[in-house]
Formats: sequence, C-alpha cells, structure tokens
Amino acid sequence: MNVLVISDVHANWTALQAVLQHAAGQYDQIVCCGDLVGYNASPGEVVDWTKANCAAAIRGNHDKAVSNGEGLEWFNDVAKRAAIWTNRALSREQLEYLQQLQQGPLALEHFHIWHGSPRNEDEYITSSREAAECFSYFDLPLAFFGHTHIQGGFFRTRGKVGLIPPPKRKEQERVLELEPDVLYLVNPGSVGQPRDGDPRAAYAIFDSEQRSVTFNRVSYLIDHTARDIVGAGLPDVLALRLFQGF
Ligand code: ZN
Repeated sequence: MNVLVISDVHANWTALQAVLQHAAGQYDQIVCCGDLVGYNASPGEVVDWTKANCAAAIRGNHDKAVSNGEGLEWFNDVAKRAAIWTNRALSREQLEYLQQLQQGPLALEHFHIWHGSPRNEDEYITSSREAAECFSYFDLPLAFFGHTHIQGGFFRTRGKVGLIPPPKRKEQERVLELEPDVLYLVNPGSVGQPRDGDPRAAYAIFDSEQRSVTFNRVSYLIDHTARDIVGAGLPDVLALRLFQGF
C-alpha cells in the first residue's frame, strides 16, 4: 500500500492542488499530520477537502488555536491575527470538525503520526537531541510528524541519531529506503508554508511493500496564494514569506 503523507497545509489551497496533481496515481490513501488551517486564506476549502479525503488526520496547534482558542497565547502577533481571521472565516461545522480532530500520536497500520512531538503538538523537533527523546515513544519503526515545516527527519540505529536530508533544490524527489532495525522519524515537509529555504510545496509517499519513503517537492503558483492572502486582509508578510520558503 502507498500512503500520501501531508502536513501543515495551512489553508493553502493552490499548493494542495499542485501536490494532489503531482502525486496522482501514486497512492492508495492520504494521511495528514495536522495544521490544516492558519496563515493562508483558504481554510474552508482545506477543511472540507480533508474531511472528505483523508483516511486519518490529527490536530495541529493551529487547528486547536483556531477552533477553541487553546494555545493562542504562544502565537506571535501575525499568527494570532491569522488564527482569529480563520476562526471567523470558517462555518460552525468546519470549526466542529477541527475541534474533534484527535491529538496525536495516533498509531496507524504501518506507522504513527503526530504533529509537534509525541508529548505535545506545540513542541518542535528540530535537532538530533530533541529527536533522540522521541524514539522511545513509539513501537512501530516509523513515525511521521510536522510542525517544523522542514522536510526530512531523523533516524536511530545502534543508539545513535542521524539526520535525514530533504531533496536538494535541483531535485524533485529523494528516496529513503527503510532498513530493518532502524527507527525513523520523518517529516513530509509543509504543503502550504515551507520553511526549509525551498518554496516548493512538500509531501512524502510511504510504500509499505518497498519499505521506502519518497520525499517530493512541487512548484505551485505562489502568486495565487499571495494574492488571496492580501485580498483577505491578512498580514502581507504571510504572502512574502512563501516566495522565500521561510
Ligand atoms: Zn504548522
């Protein structure tokens, strides 16, 4: 079975469409590691799409803050303004869907998913040291997480933790072969607001038979998303950062 793994779509409908077009025919089901909304201007479309199309989705910190205000105190001013805008833009039904999303970790057939860390969806895993503490939280050899918006991740073998790099700027994809007796913590990257210096939308495909994860990057019309952000009255900086990938 092939699984399309996405995370941090953040209401970027144009980027999500590009990912789905690029990944078409390559997967049997879709799994989402949270942060459906926040920052960009198409939250309703992304919520409805997730509800209709994802086999599993968990709650991200933005989904939580937008739907019930929880954790909003940790947000910077721009993220807070976007969260309040998003809350007003969504219907009651869409907000209820966000509210009922369960907090990770969630164990699926072949892997676990969570948003930030296995302890807390607001916590970032950015270094090998932070990753090292997480490996004891799961019993399957693979977990997918999000929140950092940085594609790649970490692996552990014989007590040592190493880094999994994302595809280079000139590459469209990078294949990670999963080896026995190695544990993997994989971030598919962010669909809607990459922060690893590569503005292309990011996603991953897990192949349970080949035991591999393929990291992908796809260009999309950032202009469209930027125009919608400005048109909606959201802070301009949210549009500008998409062009940089930070
Ligand atoms: Zn996020």
